[in-house]
Amino acid sequence: MPSILQCHPQSSYLSHRTAIDAAIARVLVGESYILGSETSAFENEFAAYLGLSHSIGVANGTDAIELALRALDIGPGDGVLTVSHTAVATVAAITLTGATPVLVDVDPESCTLCPKALEKILSEWNHGTLSGKPKLKAIVPVHLYGRPAAMEDILSLAEKHGLAVVEDCAQAHGATWRGRRVGTFGIASAFSFYPTKNLGAIGDGGAVATSDGALADRVRHLRQYGWNRERIAVLPGKNSRLDELQAAILRAKLPHLNADNDKRRALSEIYRQALLGKIGLVEGDGPDFLSARHQFVIRHPKRDTLRERLRGNGILTLVHYPHPAHLHPGYQNLCVIPLPLLETERAAAEVLSLPLFPELPPQDAETVCTALLEILPSA
Ligand SMILES: *Cc1c(COP(=O)(O)O)cnc(C)c1O
Repeated sequence: MPSILQCHPQSSYLSHRTAIDAAIARVLVGESYILGSETSAFENEFAAYLGLSHSIGVANGTDAIELALRALDIGPGDGVLTVSHTAVATVAAITLTGATPVLVDVDPESCTLCPKALEKILSEWNHGTLSGKPKLKAIVPVHLYGRPAAMEDILSLAEKHGLAVVEDCAQAHGATWRGRRVGTFGIASAFSFYPTKNLGAIGDGGAVATSDGALADRVRHLRQYGWNRERIAVLPGKNSRLDELQAAILRAKLPHLNADNDKRRALSEIYRQALLGKIGLVEGDGPDFLSARHQFVIRHPKRDTLRERLRGNGILTLVHYPHPAHLHPGYQNLCVIPLPLLETERAAAEVLSLPLFPELPPQDAETVCTALLEILPSA
């Protein structure tokens, strides 16, 4: 029986239990169970939290990316640049639009999209004789582990090459770059409310956020059969609605998101101070950005040995992610890889996510450090 879990969504419920129970009770006796007053209230509250005019609740984070891209008219024949070192959902969402994922290597220090690799791909894309290449339309940077991607370079390359930016914020609710929340830099952004995310529902949920009213309307149409307000299908849509129960639960939890992120940060500081200089760390915060501290990630060439020995000490860890998207059989033939993904493949072999969730007792984080420092010399 492990004594320290890597994540534990139930403890998030327990710490917000009264508010969540009241929210659920309110929905049960409410007027509607789908796209009612809870969903629209959550959409307004979440948009206000980000500092944007619109958020649109959808069924999950994968759909949020897909619908944001489709609302931008991205589909078959188009190319969307993103990373392979991410949840496979990012790449899945791009393929769901009919577009082709064009995969870019990560920077070894941040584990997010490498601007140099991006620049090289963009400058070489239209040279050469290869025919049938997808037309590049957008970049989907992933704020992995809660750390903002290299937005300055990404935004300027996007502008130079006429590409839309859709941020994958599934791991970064509340992260900031230059004092502004991530999710506000691209034309649109996508959030997941999967239970283990920084803002987690008790089931599936997601949102698209944007300050573009016309784009928001298109996402609203796409999430429900293509329907406009008069229930005329003006676009070919799908069913991707956020339900009232999840919206009400998210409303109960949103006011605590910043405090929960602060708890993640305090735990991360315990890890950082004990481990800095002793093992590779994927740093979270930087001079002009603050991570949402979704994961605390260490790197080691013998990652699997460390993981096994920690488990022997009753400490559970996870790997985000052991297989880059382009090495999953279901996606390997659907992606374009203009340059080798060497840092991506190295990261996948080395990264390890330590236990981290707001309710993790600080002394458990200390126990993890002690165990890890004991194991390290003989790993
Ligand atoms: C969780 C996650 C997604 C997908 O969200 P779902 O709600 O599971 O569909 C997409 N991208 C990243 C980076 C994620 O962590």
